Amino acid sequence: MSAVSPPVSADVPLLVVDDLRKSFGAHEVLKGVSLSVKPSQVVGLLGRSGSGKSTLLRCLNMLEVPSAGRILLEGEEIGFETGAGGRRRPLPAARLARQRAAMSMVFQHFNLWPHRTVLGNVTEGPVQVLGMSRDEAEARGLDLLERVGLKDKADSYPIRLSGGQQQRVAIARALAMQPKIMLFDEPTSALDPELVGEVLQVMLDLARSGTTMVVVTHEMSFARNACDEVVLLEGGQIVERGAPDFVMSRSENPRARQFFASHR
Ligand code: ADP
Ligand code: MG
Repeated sequence: MSAVSPPVSADVPLLVVDDLRKSFGAHEVLKGVSLSVKPSQVVGLLGRSGSGKSTLLRCLNMLEVPSAGRILLEGEEIGFETGAGGRRRPLPAARLARQRAAMSMVFQHFNLWPHRTVLGNVTEGPVQVLGMSRDEAEARGLDLLERVGLKDKADSYPIRLSGGQQQRVAIARALAMQPKIMLFDEPTSALDPELVGEVLQVMLDLARSGTTMVVVTHEMSFARNACDEVVLLEGGQIVERGAPDFVMSRSENPRARQFFASHR
């Protein structure tokens, strides 16, 4: 028997979401969402407030447990395993934690640890969760801070930074976990308008350097410039999807036209 693993192909999806459903009580918030994300692809999730974007993103790494459907990362189901006799059961916590670490999430509110320096924020996860040596974590952390333009702030505390700088640290912190995919939930929505651009620029650089990303955003120019595909969610269902120019400008789907007429 050969021990050689199959070649990784850019055509094989990294992430597959299959008929995902989520209800809160009697309220069905996700009504059967399916999508796939290939390596290095950037997928934008767009839609009105309340359409289910955050719930979808949170289900991807089991911050919310889906009511039905499956999520596969590199072919491995997230959160569940099939035991003897074919019974599907929740994964043990340690294995779920390992799967979660493969998907880093950046939130609207960056929640840096206030009592740790910028570099400390970026090194804590790799040391504690990945078991990296502190020296290696710091060397990598400084590289990541350089990448987000904040190497000179390594020894500062978060409270000394602007919101845009804090969010760039949060992105570096997420990258430090060496995830297979980055998930962003409206990362610029809490920022003063003049600070939005510096965060979007970092995200655009990541997108262009081959980072696999799923991004919930209301920044239409970012969706147009950075995304390979955009998905429009309405009432917990995907109502349109495709290349940004198609979905945002050329689709004849009335719901897409209506959404993009009021979101430019
Ligand atoms: P979006 O991110 O697109 O604004 P959300 O996914 O946050 O939408 O919310 C979609 C719907 O699910 C909303 O009606 C919201 O009130 C509801 N919802 C989200 N989270 C919960 C929860 N934990 N409990 C109950 N309802 C929720
Ligand atoms: Mg949301």
